Amino acid sequence: MSTKTAIEWTEVTWNPTTGCDRTSPGCDHCYAMALAKRLKAMGQAKYQRDGDPRTSGPGFGITAHESVLNLPRTWCTPKMVFVNSMSDLFHEAVPLDFIRQVFTVMEQTPQHTYQLLTKRSRRLRLVWSDLPWPPNLWMGVSVESRRYLFRANDLREVPAAIRFLSLEPLLGPMPDLDLTGIHWVIAGGESGPGARPVSPDWITQIRDACSEAGVAFFFKQWGGRTPKAGGRALEGRTWDEIPAVVQAAV
Ligand code: SF4
Repeated sequence: MSTKTAIEWTEVTWNPTTGCDRTSPGCDHCYAMALAKRLKAMGQAKYQRDGDPRTSGPGFGITAHESVLNLPRTWCTPKMVFVNSMSDLFHEAVPLDFIRQVFTVMEQTPQHTYQLLTKRSRRLRLVWSDLPWPPNLWMGVSVESRRYLFRANDLREVPAAIRFLSLEPLLGPMPDLDLTGIHWVIAGGESGPGARPVSPDWITQIRDACSEAGVAFFFKQWGGRTPKAGGRALEGRTWDEIPAVVQAAV
């Protein structure tokens, strides 16, 4: 099933795979891992395989779901689709052939716009040339601190129509942020129990870098105990910019 989502920058989610393993500090409070545990307890069929308890959790073992592969073909109206809110498609346990099938569905449903986000940029860099890159596919990487900026470098090699960075949960400053070849930046603080605080200076520094480079900037949230706890205002306003290709189509 597609799922209406509370994620501010998309419309529906589509999860052809579920499950994952923590790979860097940005994963420490993975909302998907916590949600999978609840969905398993509720008996949801897609969340019955457990992951490695050292890096994953109940109901969060990597699983490919052939049964939902063709779901976007059944949607009558064009949608903005976040692919794999409950997984990482480029996880090493997802067969390349299955990734190819997901890309083929995206290519063959040009009425939809797909947003695909990964932390496995090394694998993305290795396999992108085996995949189609239709204009309705936006490819992004998550980067939580400077240490993981290599993911942005990997992304720059990919011929996606839109390349974007998700700097969330932002865990440190991003001075010298290179936005070459990047079309969109989403930034935000962490939310939930034990949320790690974000400094306003880190956010304004990113906003200014985007402004200077002519890159669309979306500020998602300050974070805190709940997603809405700190609000979304930065210097008195919200920042909901999206790449120009979408603005032109609206
Ligand atoms: S890569 Fe994403 S889905 Fe996987 S554990 Fe980390 S935060 Fe969760």
